[in-house]
Amino acid sequence: MPTYEDSDFGVDTPLSPTSVKPNGQSLPQGSPSQNLPIPGDDGEGPIEVPATRNSVSEAAKYMHNLSVSPSMKERRGSRNSFGASLPIPRSKRQSRLSSVHYPEGTTADGRPARPGMPPIQPTRELLASQIQDVESDKVKKAKNMAFAFDIDGVLVHGDRLIPEGKRALEILNGDNELGIKIPHIFLTNGSGKPEKARCEQLSKILHNPVSTEQFIQSHTPMSALAEYYNTVLVVGGEGFKCREVAELYGFKDIVVPNDIVAWDETIAPYRHFSPWERASAKPRDFSKCNIEAILVFSDSRDYATDMQIIMDLLRSENGRLGTIAKDPVTSRIPIYFSQGDMLCPTEHWTPRMSQGTFRIGLEAMYKALTGADLERVVYGKPEAATYKYADEIMTSWMEQLHGEEKLPENIYMVGDNPASDIVGGNMYGWNTCLVRTGVFQGGENDEQNPANFGVFPNVLEAVQTALKKQLGSDFKMHFDETINPVLHGEKHDAAAII
Ligand SMILES: [Mg+2]
Repeated sequence: MPTYEDSDFGVDTPLSPTSVKPNGQSLPQGSPSQNLPIPGDDGEGPIEVPATRNSVSEAAKYMHNLSVSPSMKERRGSRNSFGASLPIPRSKRQSRLSSVHYPEGTTADGRPARPGMPPIQPTRELLASQIQDVESDKVKKAKNMAFAFDIDGVLVHGDRLIPEGKRALEILNGDNELGIKIPHIFLTNGSGKPEKARCEQLSKILHNPVSTEQFIQSHTPMSALAEYYNTVLVVGGEGFKCREVAELYGFKDIVVPNDIVAWDETIAPYRHFSPWERASAKPRDFSKCNIEAILVFSDSRDYATDMQIIMDLLRSENGRLGTIAKDPVTSRIPIYFSQGDMLCPTEHWTPRMSQGTFRIGLEAMYKALTGADLERVVYGKPEAATYKYADEIMTSWMEQLHGEEKLPENIYMVGDNPASDIVGGNMYGWNTCLVRTGVFQGGENDEQNPANFGVFPNVLEAVQTALKKQLGSDFKMHFDETINPVLHGEKHDAAAII
């Protein structure tokens, strides 16, 4: 990991309040020029021409408030009140995409599969249901709580398991004194793959079953937009994966930037278009069709091409390439981003830019080119729509697990990023748990967005603490298969009488 010494920046050199260039012009304190030899001062080499434009970035004046402040200007009539609301699907609609994935070599109840052998008798389920009959108070409490887990930095690092994550999920999947499943969902700003593929991958890494019905990635709620728009441009992600995602969401007519480049390569003058990309693109005459909305699903793999095409469309007459609108606002098509994170931790030693910075670049470009603010919608944590959708998913997951379609009252969000997981959870009235296995590396709690339930070394500690708070400090995080449910009940009753 490369590091920089202070001396790399020359700050250890004592500076006089002002220094004077050989030509007599004074320089402000700290100007790098005072430590650099200036070629040309001796009458040889390059000539330095004074700048006529401000050297300070102009981006700030091009950007508007990054929270919810859509332009109030009249927009063309749309079924979607663009900018003022974020459509999300009703939970039941999820079921058409649903599938559950179990870790390899296990069955639905987590037992090892025994190829060629008779199935193991479900004694554990019987025993658990007998215990649950006796412990009805505790069962009621267990059904009135739920967890929402961020994934990266909480349960996994990329493709690597955080070991405590596996154990935490085992407890919630029934390895507890009641043998009961405690509802939990996964709520990530990750993107770029169909939910099914991501759940398959996660279940292998976590060694626990992960269903698409308990899983929300940043663009999952954007499936609702399929009811609003017919022809959409889908941006971001590897290869054509996001086209596949949009197809699964029910979008009818999907265009990706490569389709447009294949139609007219001059639109992206710096693009090297590979034969494979050309072969898999679906070009058509885009001067004859209107793209109705732009959906940025995942991180752009080619900022230059994607920004150029997005800007062309935003400035066009109702999304028709080859036109430039007279009024950039009234005929502008809507643009949606699946999440707003500025940075994303990767293998690199310092986090890489994500959709948030890509969006700010577009906002500044748009303002610079048109003079108007870019109205846009950003999904993902910490946007309320994502949490509202999480409620919908949690409610339907409760029905799957316990046959009760209701939202538990005590919801715990476990995340590593105060700026998305925690601030969003706090705003939405959830209990928030910040873990130290990811982005957050601070002191007692985050100063800007403190977790209201506490800071924990890892997800297992957070889950155990929440379970003890709701179910009693003596709640056991292990299912005892040798227990006699009848005696267990008598003991319990006796204790209650005392
Ligand atoms: Mg995270």
